[in-house]
Amino acid sequence: MTPSPAFLKIVKDLEKKYPGTFRKATGWADPRRIPSGVFHLDRALRGGFPVRRITLIGGHKASYKTTLATKAIANWQRNCTLCMRPPAWCVCDPDTTKPMFAVVIDVEHTFDEAHAVELGVDPERLYVAKPVSGEAACEYAETIAHTPDVGIEVVDSLAALAPDVDLSKSYMTSAARGLRARLIARLMRALTVKLDKPRFPCTAIILNHLLPSQDGMGDIWPGGETQKYLSSVVIKLTTFGKEILEIQTDGEEMVKPYGGKAKPLVGPRMEHIRFLIEHSKVSLGSRLAEFDMVIETGDGFTFGDIDDYDDVLKVAQRLGIVKLLRGSDYDVNGQVVHTLQGIRGGWAADPEGYTLLKAQLCGMTPGKLALVLPEDPARSLDLERLNGKGQTAGDQEVSNELLA
Ligand SMILES: [Zn+2]
Repeated sequence: MTPSPAFLKIVKDLEKKYPGTFRKATGWADPRRIPSGVFHLDRALRGGFPVRRITLIGGHKASYKTTLATKAIANWQRNCTLCMRPPAWCVCDPDTTKPMFAVVIDVEHTFDEAHAVELGVDPERLYVAKPVSGEAACEYAETIAHTPDVGIEVVDSLAALAPDVDLSKSYMTSAARGLRARLIARLMRALTVKLDKPRFPCTAIILNHLLPSQDGMGDIWPGGETQKYLSSVVIKLTTFGKEILEIQTDGEEMVKPYGGKAKPLVGPRMEHIRFLIEHSKVSLGSRLAEFDMVIETGDGFTFGDIDDYDDVLKVAQRLGIVKLLRGSDYDVNGQVVHTLQGIRGGWAADPEGYTLLKAQLCGMTPGKLALVLPEDPARSLDLERLNGKGQTAGDQEVSNELLA
């Protein structure tokens, strides 16, 4: 299909005026994802947080936003930094991959590095920025998004961007609120533009503390609505059925649900977390689901682990990967396993195989990292360029891709 010369001239002129911003569609979208580790969330997002885009995670205090973002860093470090696949499925040439780093922009100055290591983060490949002002935080985030050596950046959190504003009161002055909203709007706009460059394969996860609205009917996202519509994915976390651990006078630990009766602590203690994908530009529709995160070590689980065996089992049964044979015998990928508990035990004993199974159920496949040869060689992008090396004639020319 050939456009008219007049239209081609307009495209050419605009492209000349604003380089790298106007091109023909390629019909391709980056399929790479960074697993969140939450099975239902990864499944809804087709594998996890989308690469080179902004994911906004909001939640009230102690809704495990930072934990989820830290787990994403650990998962990103575990996988190939180029194709983002689990190591078992990666076929990238080791010569084209290079060490890449994660950055946490700790606006709140509360990031716990030891805790991050517990969650599986490799400190050798992590940088932590502690900006002194909202403006400095924005500068960090913007600059880092444009660095070929950083694969993931976490901003924790937008609500803390203007430190002088008292966040515990929802009746802050309109001037202060306006200032922060402008700062956030600028940051989000700059990030969306900068992340959209294949040469810089950075993914942004931005956290925000939600405040209850005055009418009690909803939540306020500090910093205005811009942050939501400029994010590719907006996730809201809520904890429910929160329990507290009560230490009795005799030293015994009892778990006490709010308004409920204390009971002895047996096994790992879980926090029930609900996530709502408010909107997503990388998958269809909004989703609501729940998951259990371990917050008190026990039964072989450590803090931050997600007990998702039952969730995976249900989906695997629905898709026919796990089939009931007779009695309590099940067929799992051609192997006969006795009882559902046996299947669970098998998965627990083989974490790598279990991770691959989950990735498969999330729509990822162990395919090859293939280069599609485009009709027009000028539009090609080789792995080297995708990895940030070599010369580029312009980011708009990109579109040689990773295919499943
Ligand atoms: Zn790879």
